[in-house]
Amino acid sequence: MSGRFDGQVAVVTGAGRGLGRASAERLAAEGAHVVVVDIDEDAATAVAAGLPTASIAVRADVSDEDDVARYTAAAVDRFGRIDLHHLNAGVFGTFTPLPDLTVEEFDRVLAINVRGQFLGLRAAFGRYAAQASGGAVVVTASIAGLTGSADLLAYQTSKHAVNGLVHGASVYGGPLGIRVNAVAPGIVPTDLFAAAPTIAGGKTDMEVRASTTPLRRAGTAEEIAAVVAFLLSEDAAYVTGQIVSADGGATVVNTVRP
Ligand code: NAD
Repeated sequence: MSGRFDGQVAVVTGAGRGLGRASAERLAAEGAHVVVVDIDEDAATAVAAGLPTASIAVRADVSDEDDVARYTAAAVDRFGRIDLHHLNAGVFGTFTPLPDLTVEEFDRVLAINVRGQFLGLRAAFGRYAAQASGGAVVVTASIAGLTGSADLLAYQTSKHAVNGLVHGASVYGGPLGIRVNAVAPGIVPTDLFAAAPTIAGGKTDMEVRASTTPLRRAGTAEEIAAVVAFLLSEDAAYVTGQIVSADGGATVVNTVRP
């Protein structure tokens, strides 16, 4: 690995498993100390212990203002500064058609996926200001923030909102030397899909979606982490405000033919 992040400090939320874990592993492999944040303390602790750089785990709920302040303070206590943020934690919510979607479920998904990203962005900007430094932030958006589906209304609403956070924060952050981008993954097999229904022909929702991408397959967490690392690195020094899809081409399909 090139060591693009040697000696830098990265916060990764939702890093106990899935895409966040792969991101933590990629950033550490390239030299970053990682603050592994997750609501699942055991998972975060295990990931941090396995990284090749000195790294720490912090249990935090990203939708909670005090918890976000706490993981930021823990990072500064241990490492003295933060250079990079990957704000990744998110939930699918239930697969429920519009008439049956409850207010409680709608609010729960938006609290984690939108308020959580807002709090993470605000804390990142506050830290970069306190350091009088620039910095980089990547949020995990989704192709669900660029498209629609019948039974994931709260989730796709939340991911459309995340795009708005990225656009606004990047315009504010640009003159301060802070770049803000999003990676919009397509279909990647993780625990996120545990609640996905089985549909046509006994295939899972994930299998059907993956098989209709131009690349005809799901992605891997490592392929998403590579995009995150690029966007956080100086290789992307002139890139800000972008929603970068890593989706096997799913979002450009108009008609699927064999
Ligand atoms: P995952 O369920 O495997 O991992 C999510 C992690 O976030 C878990 O470790 C979980 O404990 C943690 N988490 C959940 N709520 C939290 C909270 N309130 N505070 C702190 N941590 C919390 O899912 P994943 O697939 O790795 O998803 C990560 C991100 O990627 C999410 O934002 C998701 O919307 C997005 N995404 C995933 C896919 C995909 O195909 N897997 C596609 C598009 C977008």
